[in-house]
Amino acid sequence: MRTRGIGTRVDHMSPWPFFAVVLFSKVIGHAALKAKLIGNIREGRVAHAQLLIGPRGCGGLPIALAYAQYLLCQEPDEADSCGKCPSCLQMGKLEHPDVHLIFPVFFSEKVKVCEPFTAQWRQAVLQNPYMDVEQWRDQLESENKQLRMGVDIAQEIQRKLSLRSFLGGYKVMMIWLPELMDAAAANKLLKVLEEPAPNTVFLLVSVDPEQLLATILSRAQQVKVPALRPADLADALRDRFPELAGDEAMAIALRSEGDLLEAVDMANNSEEELFVFFRDWLRACYRREVGLVLEFGEAFQKMGRERQKSLLRYGLYMIRQCSLQWQNVPELVRVLGQEHEFVLNFSKLLNDSNAEGIRRELEAAHYHVERNANPKILFTDLSYRLTGLLRMTATA
Ligand SMILES: [Zn+2]
Repeated sequence: MRTRGIGTRVDHMSPWPFFAVVLFSKVIGHAALKAKLIGNIREGRVAHAQLLIGPRGCGGLPIALAYAQYLLCQEPDEADSCGKCPSCLQMGKLEHPDVHLIFPVFFSEKVKVCEPFTAQWRQAVLQNPYMDVEQWRDQLESENKQLRMGVDIAQEIQRKLSLRSFLGGYKVMMIWLPELMDAAAANKLLKVLEEPAPNTVFLLVSVDPEQLLATILSRAQQVKVPALRPADLADALRDRFPELAGDEAMAIALRSEGDLLEAVDMANNSEEELFVFFRDWLRACYRREVGLVLEFGEAFQKMGRERQKSLLRYGLYMIRQCSLQWQNVPELVRVLGQEHEFVLNFSKLLNDSNAEGIRRELEAAHYHVERNANPKILFTDLSYRLTGLLRMTATA
């Protein structure tokens, strides 16, 4: 196994092992959805506003890009755009003059629109079309600033809509993460969506539709993009990480729960360090080794948010495996080697009064890390609660 020290972060931007995606055939998985979208275009059913909704790492943006390329392609066939016509070639560089790109940015005194960042966004997406907002933030090197979309961006959209189509066909307004629009911007966007311009297609790509105005949700045709199927994700991993042995690709695909970014992070980073951290930390909690627990808290803080989330998700996965063992269905346990040994031992500490509680605590911690809680306080508090739960005896 490859190992790195706890807390090192993978540079998601380079070298990204996946193709720049603009052809449907390069988008991982989603066979049925791709066929349906292509069918819609071929039958002339192109909704004026479409909202692609799917979790992190599922490929909402790559699908939207492939859709735009197909829509604008001069010689599409039944399965894909041609990839060779002038329109496709421009799309391949994300430089199609009729495809407008809108995304969150960080504001400065003078700049509150997308245009000055377009070249950077284009480059980031070509390197990693599956990127999430944190990777975009890293790219902008604006670690502590909030990425936003304000009313200036809504005006930018209106301005771009007033441009004539260069090639005489559809104009596409691609809006990545519209949920980050503030209220004023969202209301302005709503007005635009209510007065559809001819031959203009809005493609909105959202990972968190609950943050969107209900009125925007109702104005757009919703396209649900599910998490990747484990088999599709494992195939993609095997293609790009030939060094993954045996069933390792499938193990990662299952553990990442259909999130390509998570899976790549797992493939790049040894799982072993997560395992060792998780095992030794729980052991310290159980033994009430306060000093050691505090040291784990320090290490946790230094990990960086993505890795902290990975650790908690990994913990949840391991606790699920332990629960299966404890519930006497060992045939459902999906771990190998030393993880299996851990599951056999740790599952003995589980009982009907703590198993559910441990899961809930890890889930809550993941939720709070995502929302920027102070990692050290959160982790110390979590450790304290786990100690209580682990030392709980069965009620029966
Ligand atoms: Zn083409």
